[in-house]
Amino acid sequence: MSESASGVQGMSVASAFAGMRSVTPVVFKAGCPDCRGSFELTASALRLAIGATSRTTFYSFTCPDCGASVRKPAGERIVELLTGGGVSTLRLHPTL
Ligand SMILES: [Zn+2]
Repeated sequence: MSESASGVQGMSVASAFAGMRSVTPVVFKAGCPDCRGSFELTASALRLAIGATSRTTFYSFTCPDCGASVRKPAGERIVELLTGGGVSTLRLHPTL
């Protein structure tokens, strides 16, 4: 009897997730220049590096398809999106 009870519990967890859109983790669409793959990445898969100028500000990730290290320039809007989505940020210059 205890086995069937745990099975019911597993199903209730799955249906709870289906109904809770607000807790869905933020995903970012990204493309790989190497294999031309297109995919969605969670915040934990991305890294953001903020330099002194927009030229040295970029985000990077590892392509889930081919494993290439991809680095792309990040404009102001992208920086806002990534930091707002919980992407770990590395500051390349002292903020003084
Ligand atoms: Zn790739």
